[in-house]
Amino acid sequence: MFETTLAGSLPKPGWLAETDKLWPQWRAQGEELIQAKKDATLLWLKTQEDAGLDIVGDGEQARQHFVHGFLEAVEGIDFVNKVKMGIRNNRYEAMVPQVVGPLRLKGRVHALEAQLARAHTRKKLKFTLPGPMTIVDTVADRYYGEGEEGRIKMAFAFAELLNQEALALQADGVDIIQFDEPAFNVYLEDAADWGVKALERAAQGLTCTTAVHICYGYGIQANIDWKQSLGHEWRQYEKIFPALAKSQIQQVSLECYHSHVPMSLMALLEGKDVMVGVIDVASETVETPEQVAETIGQALQFVPKHRLFPCTNCGMAPMPREVAEAKLRALVEGAAIARARHGSS
Ligand code: ZN
Repeated sequence: MFETTLAGSLPKPGWLAETDKLWPQWRAQGEELIQAKKDATLLWLKTQEDAGLDIVGDGEQARQHFVHGFLEAVEGIDFVNKVKMGIRNNRYEAMVPQVVGPLRLKGRVHALEAQLARAHTRKKLKFTLPGPMTIVDTVADRYYGEGEEGRIKMAFAFAELLNQEALALQADGVDIIQFDEPAFNVYLEDAADWGVKALERAAQGLTCTTAVHICYGYGIQANIDWKQSLGHEWRQYEKIFPALAKSQIQQVSLECYHSHVPMSLMALLEGKDVMVGVIDVASETVETPEQVAETIGQALQFVPKHRLFPCTNCGMAPMPREVAEAKLRALVEGAAIARARHGSS
């Protein structure tokens, strides 16, 4: 009960990449960089185990960014000539690569870190991939054509590639494959209409546990400003949860603590495991275990206890390392309090 886990990313150590950045530059190149990525992956595995997390991950140490890390392994994408594009409905601008031809995987994308992580932990291992809709929103297109039709075609093309890699990750021994879809609560109608279907295509044939993470984004300024524009109650999830509840995806990860999302919306996810965000990633203030237990207690009104997984609101990539470590410990200690409080049935 209350198995603890994290949304995905963890801060990169200063010797691996620039710190406090969402698109950090690597510190090394070639073999030296590969070694540094491996070292950082092991370091975070150990830190998660020491904190007492039940379900651990690679902390996304081997990818520069959660979307571009995947795209780098895709043929048909021009990474040299990046263009500036407004993403997440123009919430912020990013330099993004361009799709210029048919999409094909050059080979495995995440074999290095997935196999390394699997070899070094006996805990349940979760691995994250970007979702098709979010990829489409983080890349410029010069191949699939204008408008909605082009976007959908491109999303399903990416979904096929994601599926190839997901099946390979499953063969590596990964227990949970999670697709990250922050674009879902930006394009609500599209998400319910074709976003969830593209996601199911990406998860097709998987027999391991499948999950989706939707969220209001990392704690970067553009997201904080956007959140302030959303009003007092954030009901975006109301539009997409019914579609997710009907989908094949088994677990949903969402932000909860310090968020304006009414907790009652989680009731719309009946039948799914819910990874409830009990750790705020937009604040460097470390939650107390009691606050974590309190949030779990509130969420229990809407999520059955055997389906509730205490989790972070989102990835912790842009945070200081020691803050992320302290937050992981608070998460585990808080879940233990909640277990004692709500257990025994
Ligand atoms: Zn997130």
